[in-house]
Amino acid sequence: MAYSRFGTDYDRLTADFVGRSEDYESKVAEARDTGIAVVGAGISGLAAAVESVNRGIPTVLLEHRKVVGGSGMTTLGILAVGSHFQKEQGIEISTGEVIRMEQETFNYRADGARLRDMIFASADNLHWLEENGVEFSGVVDKYMADGHVPTFHWWKSSFGGGAYVNPMRETFERKGGTLLLRTAARKLIAENGTVRGLYAVEADGTVLRINAKAVILANGGFEQNKELLASRGYDPEDLSFMGAIGHDGSGHFMAWDAGGGNSMEISALMETPYNKNLPGICMRGYCQLWMGLQGRQMCVNGRGERFFDESASDKLRAFPQIAINLQRRYGAFEIYDQAVMDAAIEHAKIHSPRSWEKAATVIQEALDNGADGVWKANTMEELADRTGIDKDRLVKTYTDYSRYCENGRDEEFGKDPDRLWKLTGPFYCMKYTEPNYIATLGGVHTGRDSEVLNAKDRAVPGLYAVGMLGTELWPGYYTYGMPGGANAFNVDSGRRAVRHAAEYCI
Ligand SMILES: Cc1cc2nc3c(=O)[nH]c(=O)nc-3n(C[C@H](O)[C@H](O)[C@H](O)COP(=O)(O)OP(=O)(O)OC[C@H]3O[C@@H](n4cnc5c(N)ncnc54)[C@H](O)[C@@H]3O)c2cc1C
Repeated sequence: MAYSRFGTDYDRLTADFVGRSEDYESKVAEARDTGIAVVGAGISGLAAAVESVNRGIPTVLLEHRKVVGGSGMTTLGILAVGSHFQKEQGIEISTGEVIRMEQETFNYRADGARLRDMIFASADNLHWLEENGVEFSGVVDKYMADGHVPTFHWWKSSFGGGAYVNPMRETFERKGGTLLLRTAARKLIAENGTVRGLYAVEADGTVLRINAKAVILANGGFEQNKELLASRGYDPEDLSFMGAIGHDGSGHFMAWDAGGGNSMEISALMETPYNKNLPGICMRGYCQLWMGLQGRQMCVNGRGERFFDESASDKLRAFPQIAINLQRRYGAFEIYDQAVMDAAIEHAKIHSPRSWEKAATVIQEALDNGADGVWKANTMEELADRTGIDKDRLVKTYTDYSRYCENGRDEEFGKDPDRLWKLTGPFYCMKYTEPNYIATLGGVHTGRDSEVLNAKDRAVPGLYAVGMLGTELWPGYYTYGMPGGANAFNVDSGRRAVRHAAEYCI
């Protein structure tokens, strides 16, 4: 695929990034030989690197920042099914139940065999992490209330930096691995289609040639690459981001340049519906109002039509985001009143009292400043005038919705009767701007062992893409249905790639 459906020319971006016309070989200041070269020292790269040194394979781990950890630094935990913690606490969940739930959520679009691989290996992977120094608090839950099942295992020191990244780095170096900080992998070296190493550039511009029997790309997502974000239809200037820096899409470009398939069409953002002018109102760590309002609001598009069951977030956090994204052409709005807001503040006392104490102030300040996408009006007619929402349709939608609330039956979208609250003026209204996101998922086509595949599903020998770079388990969106699933995949894919490389490349 050369172009995205939004017109992005992937070939040109790839050529620009890797510097196809650049003669790296003539600039090489130092060459190193190794067994496996791992690019990126985040969650998945560290898992691959430790698996590799544990097997006695000479390993070089490259990280272009001066610190290791990537987005993994701020993570809180990981999924496992059947761990000793769960057994000790009498938590009984079946692997089959978790897999079926996730497959149903995706209408069976995610590869069930790979999902099964990850879930079945998850308890063993957790025990392996413990053996390599990672510590857990022992608390296992549904990530507060997001997931369907209690799979989330919290790190001991509350953040991934202390609990996972530091001990895994220590294990890697103690067992003889070589860590090169401030060293950016730039271009893969291939001979007759087989990857044999890479060129990397140090912070001072020195060019290294790393000769390796296999290269494992663990660069993470494309969070900071505006062109790749735009290639998925987002307006990068309007998106708000709450994750780590260092994700420039370099892994994508290197893999595509070496013949890897482009799976950007099913890539996704880990995102939350958002209005950038109402910052800081968070619910369970996710910034924005919608979650706190618990589906008691009425959502309409710019044509004044409702478009989903607003209480869908109770079933899965990702559902509202998907519904809202599909209204992008018309714009999407949520409308609520003081009673809904008061109930939200009351509810928030359980989860996020500090951030919600100031919710009313944040909203009032936005209104006073005439902030974009935030309004208050006494009637639906007035609201339509202010927002530009189709007036006749909005009034009719509101009349119909009020009737559903009175009757306790949503005739259009089947919303939970408990959440059918009749709204009375004055009305607050917020437009969803682009989402808030913390990470991206996917973009490089991979197989079951994280081997990079070309567009015809054939492996590019010697090349692997692990972690968020190569995941295809969340096609189009991240469900949050299996809490900690991203990290479970990061660890599993890293280990799996090394096992495969050890068998076929070393
Ligand atoms: C705030 C926050 C909280 C989260 N909480 C959780 C959670 O609790 N549980 C969970 O499962 N998931 C969570 N996630 C998602 C999780 O962080 C990611 O899935 C995970 O970090 C991705 O791992 P990775 O190895 O693919 O990428 P990363 O961990 O981001 O690592 C990629 C590394 O590659 C480096 N790199 C990139 N390009 C190059 C290059 N060319 N050369 C050398 N190095 C390079 C980067 O600097 C980075 O260090 C959270 C994310 C955020 C932002």
